[in-house]
Amino acid sequence: MAILIKGATLISGKKADVLIEGNSIAKIAPSITDNSAEKIDASRKLLIPGLINTHTHAAMSLFKGVAEDMQLADWLAAVRKVETKLTAKQARVGTLLAAAEMLKGGTTCFNDMYFHMDEIASAVQESGIRATLGYGMVDMGNEKKRKSELAVGEKFVKDWHGKEQGRIHCSIAPHSIYLCSKELLVAANELSQKYSVPYHIHLSETRKEVFDCLETNKKRPAYYLDSLGVLSNRTVAAHCVWLTKEEVRLLASHKVSVSLNPVSNMKLSGGSTAPMPEMQEFGMNVSLGTDGSASNNSLSMFETMKTLGLLQKNARWDATVAKEGAIFDAATVGGAKALEIYAGVIKEGALADLALLDLHSPNIVPAHSLVSNLVYSAHAGNVTDVIVDGKLVVENRTLLTMDEQKIVEQAQKEAEKLVG
Ligand SMILES: [Zn+2]
Repeated sequence: MAILIKGATLISGKKADVLIEGNSIAKIAPSITDNSAEKIDASRKLLIPGLINTHTHAAMSLFKGVAEDMQLADWLAAVRKVETKLTAKQARVGTLLAAAEMLKGGTTCFNDMYFHMDEIASAVQESGIRATLGYGMVDMGNEKKRKSELAVGEKFVKDWHGKEQGRIHCSIAPHSIYLCSKELLVAANELSQKYSVPYHIHLSETRKEVFDCLETNKKRPAYYLDSLGVLSNRTVAAHCVWLTKEEVRLLASHKVSVSLNPVSNMKLSGGSTAPMPEMQEFGMNVSLGTDGSASNNSLSMFETMKTLGLLQKNARWDATVAKEGAIFDAATVGGAKALEIYAGVIKEGALADLALLDLHSPNIVPAHSLVSNLVYSAHAGNVTDVIVDGKLVVENRTLLTMDEQKIVEQAQKEAEKLVG
């Protein structure tokens, strides 16, 4: 059934009616009449494109708070300990919990890398959220493991890419240069090319990764990936914290998209800041991610936007960098570009992935600048309604696709089993 959003305020400040037919935006006009459409009164609401989280591990929502105030090596060990116990059922429950949090916070699409991917995809199917999902491949130089990882990753793409009328996309996701051999990185790229799907990888997250790469490969990480021929416009590189200016230039020349994860980087005390101004200068596509809940504790893209602005300005001693419009674009249209979907914008023909916010909430009044309100003042609680793929999935802050209370109870129970 068509949906007609009446009288919404757009980011431009203008009011409009928006008609949704099928899974896309059919018409935007000052006044639209469609008696057969389901109507949403948005006269007190702000309509935005749904936020797009381009790097997370949704199932890790069960790990919130399991590894706090730890140095990276201890944090990794603590997370690994629960991760090895995580069952397929628990991965599904964790993803449902994450999807509930994301949808209620205006996030309509996420880019995930993990394991137990069939259950994760089935949770995405049920929740109504859009996602690009990839099996996180790790071979640690073991040839037998490499073959099986590639087989699992490829089968997942074959089984799920394009499912739910295209709401589920797949990616090929070699974890990183430190957990994958060069043979795996290259073979994974061939699969990404074969299926025309994103190549999702962690890149230059820590100084150790850079130093180890220099020692082993005599090159910094971005040059190493370039020497393997795996950089392309399909590459979605998460973090990109420890990059030189020349590495940014190199990644930009290959049309690589970056996913900045400022909260996770700061929480794990990465010690450096992704060079966003240079990324913009060289025309790199910038998008935003939260990373998993073990290193962020939240999947809020509002928090991510604000943190990015604060971090960039502070790190550069320059309040003019990371302008509010660029941050909002990174959270919307930049994410859509990275994942190659036509979303992140409110335009006729684009996917109907949208969120409405209560314009009368005290924290986002007055409306001198709606964009700065979105980046610096808004929070997930301001989101009232969410539409994904043309379907209403959150109405008046209530999830329509899932039983929220049941998911919360299940998640608490399974998380206790994992940690206990
Ligand atoms: Zn990650």
